[in-house]
Amino acid sequence: MRATQLFATGDIRTVDVDIPTPARGEILIKVEASGICGTDRHLYHGEFPSVPGKILGHEFSGIVVDSGDTAIAEGTRVTCDPNTWCGTCDQCQRGRVNLCVNNVATGIHRDGGFAQYCAFPASKAVTLPSDIDPLHGAFCEPLACTLHGMDIGAARAGETVLVIGGGVIGLLAVQIAKLSGADVMLLTRSAEKQALGRQIGADHAVGSDTELREIWPEGADLVVECAGVSSTVSQSAKLARTGGRVVILGVLPQGEQVSIEPFDMLFREIQMHFSFLNPFTHQRAAQMVADGTIAVAPLISRTIPLEEAAAAIASPPPRGEVRAIVVPQD
Ligand code: NAP
Repeated sequence: MRATQLFATGDIRTVDVDIPTPARGEILIKVEASGICGTDRHLYHGEFPSVPGKILGHEFSGIVVDSGDTAIAEGTRVTCDPNTWCGTCDQCQRGRVNLCVNNVATGIHRDGGFAQYCAFPASKAVTLPSDIDPLHGAFCEPLACTLHGMDIGAARAGETVLVIGGGVIGLLAVQIAKLSGADVMLLTRSAEKQALGRQIGADHAVGSDTELREIWPEGADLVVECAGVSSTVSQSAKLARTGGRVVILGVLPQGEQVSIEPFDMLFREIQMHFSFLNPFTHQRAAQMVADGTIAVAPLISRTIPLEEAAAAIASPPPRGEVRAIVVPQD
């Protein structure tokens, strides 16, 4: 089969490899859709810890073609929760499974979904309806991560929620915030993403702090940082209203420092939280994608064949792009 492997920082290629054989407790999935995430680009640039030689792709779904020794029927469409926690470490025992010290992430530590087939733990596969658009299954993982961040932020009806960053995470955060009954603003630089933000439900979409202050002079009750840029992390604390809260979802390069003003945050008692991965949210995400509670079709900017995946990961996303979906069977 063909598969896109990260051999080393800056070296990603699509190559021939053997179709994997499912191990005990695993199924073989024929991959239908696999999203290119900002994290794949961080991995390529060495900004996020990786394991050389692994097939990338952690946002994927497909059809079970070999159920191995599991009870999942062949032909079932599944979405894959890529994070396999150990269940026994101190953090797992405390229920903080996303902080598991032994987490094995498919598409990072083990072979993932930028491939025609993927052997995957059956316990982490969530069933999707057979009539769902196959491309939509690729959104369950980013939605699951965004749900965790929005659970931490706990937006309430009548509050103001500012989402910074108009990528897929930001546009999913906008939709979750709307479900809470909040007044929601998207702050992102590109006019195309602002327009998309309004289309998927944002009450306001702006391109700068100045525009934001014209609408909400005091800032927002909840700021959700989904850009993954040092300047927007600094900005998040400033844009939270007094007594407000910030949730950082964006991933910055390892080691990067950010400027914040503790005096201002203390005197205004700003709570700053960080949200990591998708603890117990993948099932909810699958349900919300399957029943259309969250619109994902507008977030698909293009589909590309597997042969173009390496180049797409190695390049910055084209202007205005939200999500490119790799379709390995093309
Ligand atoms: P993305 O497609 O790169 O989106 C980020 C968006 O931020 C861009 O579309 C960009 O849009 C906007 N942006 C960049 N600089 C900005 C600025 N100065 N002001 C306002 N907006 C700015 O990434 P994504 O896939 O949505 O992911 C977002 C972040 O979440 C990434 O860092 C990713 O690694 C991270 N992530 C975290 C988790 C987790 O568990 N915490 C899970 C998945 C992903 P404009 O060009 O319009 O400004």
